[in-house]
Amino acid sequence: MTDTKTPITIAYGDGIGPEIMEATLAILEDAGAQIQPEVIEIGEKVYTRGIKNGIEESSWESLMRTKCFLKAPITTPQGGGFKSLNVTIRKAMAMFANVRPCVSYAPFVRAPQTTMNMVIIRENEEDLYAGIEHQQTDNVVQCLKLISQTGSERIIRYAFEYARANNRKKVTCISKDNIMKMTDGLFHKTFRRIAEEYPNIENSHMIVDIGAAKIAARPDMFDVVVTENLYGDILSDIAAEVAGSVGLCGSANIGKHGAMFEAIHGSAPDITGQGIANPSGLLHGALMMLQHIGQNTVAETIHNAWLKTLEDGIHTGDIYSDEHSTARVNTKDFTKAVIERLGARPEKLTAVDYAASGAKPAAIPDVSFPVRGDKKLVGIDVFVHGDDNMTPDALAGRLTSLQLAQLKLSSIDSRGLLVWPEATALQEHSDHWRCRFVSANEDDSVTHDNLIDLLMQVRKAGFDFIKTENLYSFNGEKAFTVAQGQ
Ligand code: NAD
Repeated sequence: MTDTKTPITIAYGDGIGPEIMEATLAILEDAGAQIQPEVIEIGEKVYTRGIKNGIEESSWESLMRTKCFLKAPITTPQGGGFKSLNVTIRKAMAMFANVRPCVSYAPFVRAPQTTMNMVIIRENEEDLYAGIEHQQTDNVVQCLKLISQTGSERIIRYAFEYARANNRKKVTCISKDNIMKMTDGLFHKTFRRIAEEYPNIENSHMIVDIGAAKIAARPDMFDVVVTENLYGDILSDIAAEVAGSVGLCGSANIGKHGAMFEAIHGSAPDITGQGIANPSGLLHGALMMLQHIGQNTVAETIHNAWLKTLEDGIHTGDIYSDEHSTARVNTKDFTKAVIERLGARPEKLTAVDYAASGAKPAAIPDVSFPVRGDKKLVGIDVFVHGDDNMTPDALAGRLTSLQLAQLKLSSIDSRGLLVWPEATALQEHSDHWRCRFVSANEDDSVTHDNLIDLLMQVRKAGFDFIKTENLYSFNGEKAFTVAQGQ
């Protein structure tokens, strides 16, 4: 144990946040955690004071100084309103990895699956979570999915480093590269490349739909899972619920400039103020925090007392069952039960022994930026907001009559489905057309001036172009996908 107290930033959050934070801090204090909490306010109360990102400037100062944040859940408006503060903090502090251990506690906690012991390592900074969204036509909105080579490599390397540091045997990558061949394709390709550097760790890959089904039905197939941001969010809730309750799992957000520890669940407005929330998720976040700041002994004492509490059947409502529980307790009594057991070890569940397990913090990998490739501009996709009566043939007729020097119309699709020169299916009404122009001479590149000339002509012809996307080849390979049916 360290002699001096480690300053940590703490936020009580929204909904059940204050109830579970009080419980967690009470257990940490009784166990002798050497921490010096600095409380900041985030979330709903800050949003309603008109602070758009949900956090005061002075709170950033604490976060940037302590670099260690224990955070209760906060409420994020759905479908509109302010952006998620969770995402802002993860990104601002470059916390690229979200580590979510999911364990079942059979036969003491009722669970659909009793053999779960997996760690989901979720990429934290990119993917659809970048939240770059636009309305383009009356009918269509879009969300951009951005995946980088460096982001993929960093999280995948971290997953292998985590497996190595924690004596785990296998890393499974989960993606959807049969459909998203470029974004998820890059993630999977990077996984295959990095896996070769860790020959002592088994590796496998699953498509996300069957991966999710297998996590729910055969969790024993998994050890460490590495995946993109959105899939990781969904898969870890499935894993946690299948292991007993979302109320049981904690998570660590790890980065070069700081770390944040939290429960995986949200602010649970449906049970707020009733004093019945399970504080275990946040407590597990706090245990990861104690290990992060080198207070393994205290973390181990709390973890074993908590296991003993579960084993004794003292359960909050979310994990209570007549068959497995001896007492249905509220948050305060659960907290008291854990505190009373500090120093005790579970007799049937496996006690944790951090020293004997040899587990250590995983190294944060350095990744290098890809070298610049031979990039050639070969065309452009022009997205057009069509009027009510526009047909693909009529649109093609007007676009092919443009006087273009270097470019020719090669295809039109509507939301990825080819409609011209052939239609792949009966075309329903659309107001969103992607018109692909490529170099008139197969192997020639085009210039930005060619594209500007094209756009001027498209505008003069009376079209509302809503977005353009340049088409490139990289190192001689076409670096864009074709439409469905092309
Ligand atoms: P939720 O996780 O808050 O609740 C889902 C269900 O699980 C509810 O029935 C709830 O009662 C139950 N539950 C959750 N935690 C529990 C606990 N500790 N003990 C007992 N039962 C528990 O998910 P939601 O209802 O979809 O989201 C509510 C709000 O939380 C939303 O505003 C959402 O954006 C936010 N949220 C925040 C975070 C975070 O701060 N990291 C994470 C997820 C969701």
